[in-house]
Amino acid sequence: MDGIKFGVGDRLTMKKPHPCGSREMKVLRTGSDIRVVCLGCGRDVTVPRVKLEKNIKGVTHVESPVEQI
Ligand SMILES: [Zn+2]
Repeated sequence: MDGIKFGVGDRLTMKKPHPCGSREMKVLRTGSDIRVVCLGCGRDVTVPRVKLEKNIKGVTHVESPVEQI
């Protein structure tokens, strides 16, 4: 999975679910480390981009990049 495009506010569907059971994550910050928040339990995690990309199954682009959480 190379060159996945996603930005702040996008929803990510992960291959491996979070311990809470949710596969949906929302991007909070991008860079060499990506900060995402789990939409199941609301916990946020910071993951190195390369590691995160390997776990992405799909990306849902969200219209408004300034959406509030
Ligand atoms: Zn969770």
